[in-house]
Amino acid sequence: MTVIALHHFIDGTWVEGGGEPLVDVNPSSPRDVVAEGPGASRADVDRAFAAARTAFDGWRRTPARARAAILLRAADIIEAHREAWGRELAREEGKTLVEAIAETGHAANILRFHAQEVERQSGGVFESPSPGERILVIRRPVGVVGAITPFNFPISIPAWKLAPALVWGNTVVWKAATSVPVLAMRFAGALEQAGLPRGVLNLVNGTAAVGEAIVAHADVDAVTFTGSTNVGRSIAAQLATRGIPFQGELGGKNASLVLADADLDVAVEQVAIGAFRAAGQKCTATSRVIVHEAVADEFLRRLAARTERMVVGDAQAEGVEVGPVIDRAARDRVAAAIALARTTATVVVAPEPYGPDELDGGYFIAPSIFELNEDDPGELWTEELFGPVIGIRRVPSTDAGVALVNDSAYGLSVAVFTTGLADALKVIEDISVGVVHVNSASAGADLHVPFGGSRASALGPKEQGAAAREFFTETGTVYLRG
Ligand code: NAD
Repeated sequence: MTVIALHHFIDGTWVEGGGEPLVDVNPSSPRDVVAEGPGASRADVDRAFAAARTAFDGWRRTPARARAAILLRAADIIEAHREAWGRELAREEGKTLVEAIAETGHAANILRFHAQEVERQSGGVFESPSPGERILVIRRPVGVVGAITPFNFPISIPAWKLAPALVWGNTVVWKAATSVPVLAMRFAGALEQAGLPRGVLNLVNGTAAVGEAIVAHADVDAVTFTGSTNVGRSIAAQLATRGIPFQGELGGKNASLVLADADLDVAVEQVAIGAFRAAGQKCTATSRVIVHEAVADEFLRRLAARTERMVVGDAQAEGVEVGPVIDRAARDRVAAAIALARTTATVVVAPEPYGPDELDGGYFIAPSIFELNEDDPGELWTEELFGPVIGIRRVPSTDAGVALVNDSAYGLSVAVFTTGLADALKVIEDISVGVVHVNSASAGADLHVPFGGSRASALGPKEQGAAAREFFTETGTVYLRG
């Protein structure tokens, strides 16, 4: 298959980088090289910031409707390439084709939402205690934003950061995850074709070193990051000493709570989808399941049967439900956790690992389920593994279930399965996470409502919906007398 030349988009031009060589492979079939070329160097990052700074003044003065029109055109371009870019996404990231095409379409809708949002309310007018005076609250862009994105949603997470950043008048220096530069190039290319002025968006591809150069750059005004908690917190700590705002959407260890009165057909299907789609590599994926003891045996029997039926294989193949994890390191990390769990927990479903010659050497892990040891539930209970693995615990009551949901350093998403309104309301009140699903999978986020977690799952203002403007604008309060 074609090997795509890896480029960077700096000051309105596609350029070769001056950094270390990068090779982007297909995780379903690692001999298939998707893209290669030099990553960005520190000098490239400097040029990107210089371009973003120069472009800022003209861009912030461009009427909001004209900025929005560019996003709307880019949305149409993405929509027109939904199938082709979805196929590239499946090849580059390993998400199944159906999910990859859906993600690409979702990115177009995110651009459309923010293009309209900017023309809704952007400030406020207040009465003043002084005669002849009004008080205005206005919003201004924050300046040059550094954006650092993860591998697992290669086009929709960039869309939900860059659309509000750009439409509210900021300019951007963006680094996509090392393993998904092609979708980043497609996204930046759509905005270029849509008429984005030079320097407004700059894409620098590369490893963590490129992200470090963005964070350390003297000219960065704010940093938005999605990725793991440790990396996010270390970036936040560096920026805090310089007084630079940070927004971080971080890791998760999300629970599904199956109560005694749950509709088990719904619970089984939604837990399976929430845990195993995208090979468990969603920040909102279910990795802990807490089940009421009254229904535990039946639930586990049905969940095991559903899990064993899941088709694992090449992300681009018809009918596949679980593709590979992102790379060899991820595969080895998840396989090691499964090997450990075989000795410390009870196996519910855990097929033998794929040998190196099976499935074209792709980084596949079959969905696995363990019932954890109550005295020492271990890392399957506490650590974000980011793979298709569930740890199960039984509880005697709803209250005990809620306590176990809250027994986590993370607080991103939870799914509760019940047919009782009273229990649903109780759980909504007593669980401290950012996103609660009642009778649907823990994974999933809509674009028009706020999204984000609590505790170790996030830092700073939420993303998406109307919340998105909170990070990408700052308010000014104006006392206006004639
Ligand atoms: P990661 O933390 O390894 O990398 C994220 C990005 O940061 C990448 O672009 C990476 O190259 C860059 N990076 C790594 N080290 C850096 C450093 N020291 N300085 C600057 N940049 C650096 O995460 P990942 O493996 O790409 O993604 C998976 C993680 O992302 C999981 O923890 C997942 O839960 C989280 N995630 C969270 C959300 C959310 O909205 N809460 C959404 C998606 C993914």
